[in-house]
Amino acid sequence: MNILQSDKSPNTSETVGDYIKRMRLMLGLNQKELAAIAGIHLQSVGKIERGLTTKLNSHSKNGLASALQVPVEYLEAVCRGTPVVAVSQLKFCAPCWTPGTPPDPLWMDVRAKYCFLCGFALRDRCSHCQETIASLKHRFCPFCGTAYKAEA
Ligand SMILES: [Zn+2]
Ligand SMILES: [Zn+2]
Repeated sequence: MNILQSDKSPNTSETVGDYIKRMRLMLGLNQKELAAIAGIHLQSVGKIERGLTTKLNSHSKNGLASALQVPVEYLEAVCRGTPVVAVSQLKFCAPCWTPGTPPDPLWMDVRAKYCFLCGFALRDRCSHCQETIASLKHRFCPFCGTAYKAEA
């Protein structure tokens, strides 16, 4: 299953309650089942879905993310009210990356700004046209043809 499917990412207009409810219904779960899988109280699920709880602690967040089969970053983004594109962005270190190979997961961490190997600033877009990187399976920017590894 591809957890980065777009229908699983939160809509910009959605509250955390709306989002969790939508994901729960998508999986065909009722609140009680979701609470059991996520390891949190049924009342907590009810409060979150009704919008009475908008801040999730890390236990609830991790439990709900795994129960709903969505990245925990999605829940964090929806709690913050920021678009999820910002958290699922591809990033890489130009000097360390080998073109044609997947980026190291450590570069992809939302909080990562610099390479853990060499300290170089991570790049999330084409150095030439500034288009964001759609896939690092490509060696070249599909928009302008500049090699991603260029100008390292
Ligand atoms: Zn590096
Ligand atoms: Zn480009």
